Amino acid sequence: MSVSFGFQHSYARELVGFYARVQPAKAPAPQLLLLNTALAEQLGLDLRALDEQALAKVFSGSVLPADAEPIALAYAGHQFGNFVPQLGDGRAILLGELVGRDGVRRDVQLKGAGQTPFSRRGDGRAALGPVLREYLISEAMHALGVPSTRALAAVATGEPVYRETVLPGAVFTRIARSHIRVGTFQFFARRADVQGLQKLADYVIARHDPELARAPNPYLALLDAVMQRQAALVARWMMVGFVHGVMNTDNMAISGETIDFGPCAFLDVYDPRTVFSSIDQGGRYAYKNQAPIAMWNLARLAETLLPLIAEDGEQAVALATEHLERFEALFGEQYLSGLRAKLGLVRAEPGDEALAQELLEQMYLSRADFTTTFRLLCEVAAAEDAAGLRSRFSDPARFDAWCQRWRSRAASEQAAPAEQAQAMRRVNPAFIPRNHRVEHALQQAVQHGDLSAFNRLAGILARPYDDQPEHAEYAEPPPPDSGPYRTFCGT
Ligand code: AMP
Ligand code: MG
Repeated sequence: MSVSFGFQHSYARELVGFYARVQPAKAPAPQLLLLNTALAEQLGLDLRALDEQALAKVFSGSVLPADAEPIALAYAGHQFGNFVPQLGDGRAILLGELVGRDGVRRDVQLKGAGQTPFSRRGDGRAALGPVLREYLISEAMHALGVPSTRALAAVATGEPVYRETVLPGAVFTRIARSHIRVGTFQFFARRADVQGLQKLADYVIARHDPELARAPNPYLALLDAVMQRQAALVARWMMVGFVHGVMNTDNMAISGETIDFGPCAFLDVYDPRTVFSSIDQGGRYAYKNQAPIAMWNLARLAETLLPLIAEDGEQAVALATEHLERFEALFGEQYLSGLRAKLGLVRAEPGDEALAQELLEQMYLSRADFTTTFRLLCEVAAAEDAAGLRSRFSDPARFDAWCQRWRSRAASEQAAPAEQAQAMRRVNPAFIPRNHRVEHALQQAVQHGDLSAFNRLAGILARPYDDQPEHAEYAEPPPPDSGPYRTFCGT
């Protein structure tokens, strides 16, 4: 079998020394589990010549497309605040880049296809559960309209991987606008390699922000662009109740896509302090801390850019600081406009933030489910009666007062109530990857080799803003006795 994907290799060509050449391991018995044909089409990838066995070989790394040039990328990163000068792709292998039908260049990367020079003590493998989890959640994020890396394929390798227990191994094919992270910049900054940094920054500008090449200070403009994307991204996370869970600087993509789905999960009950990750004992990456942590990570990015921002060190620091200080306002705008949309408001009025905060506070005090509350509010927008939603609040009279305030504010908008409700349904999902549903689907797949629950859930999550009454139970929060949900880093 000889097949070509139409790969390009701008990273490998232009950033020599930023990666190691590697060979993926061969899987003993690769079996294709999932293939995202719609995404393949978008990428301009014609897979019709490959039968299922051939696809399994390609997407396990066992047989490479003729034009692949497998590499593992170097990067560093702050993990929970501690700097690690060398991390790198320890279990990910970039095969090449595809320029899709939309003209966008994207990386095609195998995750779990064996060791690389960056594996440290790791085995370079991935277990089936975390592979399916990333597939499901990254695609769900995309369907929710949140920028995210995508899932192209999942293949079982037929080989066991050894964690606390023996688990089936798998390889995940990830698609990203690039895999350049804050930690990529940190890798070169730590080595005081200013030339390398400049090459990297120029590459990023050419790939993600070509218009910035003409800016008066392109590297400061790059910092602004990354800040803008992160502010928008984290605000989107907040609007769907997403807790990333491991916002280390190596898990923050310069492209502004959500990346790394190891311990992430979605809020059920609205509590801003929510943490799911079992290793995040201090709550560093709690729901409410995500914007301040993004800001912290951006400060680490800014530090790496200092020598490029100005020759004079003090001037560089002053400029970078001045720009970084805008993050809070940038995020605040995105967050508030997201909340406004959730409440069906289009125009901006001074009392909007207080109006939204009052609802959130009542949700918090009532332990209300984040997603269902906002979805029910869509119905209330077009109805006289709010009884169904009202009953979910511990202080119904206080809710009534809020509801009246909201109704009169909403009445000052152009749109009629029915239109408002419709617009609200487009931003307040009915379906999110409910933790208990995700667990059940993964369990069926891993323990019984049965993907039917997974496929059903994935199908529902592909249309999160549609009512889908036939799947109403998938919109429901977990049973009240299910206890706190815990996640684990997907190694
Ligand atoms: P993550 O927690 O996925 O962000 O990974 C942090 C670092 O650990 C990255 O450098 C990964 O490549 C590396 N890593 C995670 N799991 C493995 C593994 N099973 N084998 C080798 N390296 C790994
Ligand atoms: Mg990572």
